[in-house]
Amino acid sequence: MKTNYCKEHRAYLPEGLECPACVHRDRDRFREALEKIIELNRQHAVDMNGDAKSAERWACVRVARAALGREGVGNEPAP
Ligand SMILES: [Zn+2]
Repeated sequence: MKTNYCKEHRAYLPEGLECPACVHRDRDRFREALEKIIELNRQHAVDMNGDAKSAERWACVRVARAALGREGVGNEPAP
């Protein structure tokens, strides 16, 4: 049987299966990046008009929140 090998996690995997540890790590990185994007946009909104919540209407923030799913909702820092 053919296998993949993850050097980083020293794991042999059946062909076609991604290393679960790598998938998990990538997911965490994407989540952190999306949360950072939201945070930066909220800060930009504060700089512009003093209201972090106005950033929630911006397309990039809405897209990031949608990608984060439920975990991103209600996770906004206090204004
Ligand atoms: Zn791996």
